[in-house]
Amino acid sequence: MTEASCIFCKIVSGDISSDLIAETANLIAFKDIAPLAKVHLLVIPKKHYRDVAELSASNPAQLSELMSLAVKLAGEYTNGSFKLQFNTGAEAGQTIFHAHAHVLSENPKDGS
Ligand code: AMP
Ligand code: ZN
Repeated sequence: MTEASCIFCKIVSGDISSDLIAETANLIAFKDIAPLAKVHLLVIPKKHYRDVAELSASNPAQLSELMSLAVKLAGEYTNGSFKLQFNTGAEAGQTIFHAHAHVLSENPKDGS
């Protein structure tokens, strides 16, 4: 399922370019366009789920995959200190209604 107006579905399809850093059968990861920390990555399912609650309810195995990839990338891009965040619902700051994990850190791997 895709949503014609969904920016992240367009990134998955390649209609909108992104700074892609990882791809698996079910997931992609890319750099956030407006980083809120020195490291700010987004990890998303290729399939459209509106938020992490829908992903968890519909496809818990894929949520587990997503968490594993987010932690793997955090290990590659940070010194091991990082935050994983799922904004869920407009009142919690969600602006793009396609499930995504933020990987945030002020401690890049290279120390810069
Ligand atoms: P949220 O507020 O949790 O829905 O997060 C959406 C995130 O997507 C924000 O941090 C945005 O900066 C980011 N974002 C929006 N458009 C793009 C884009 N085209 N490429 C990469 N990141 C984006
Ligand atoms: Zn989508």
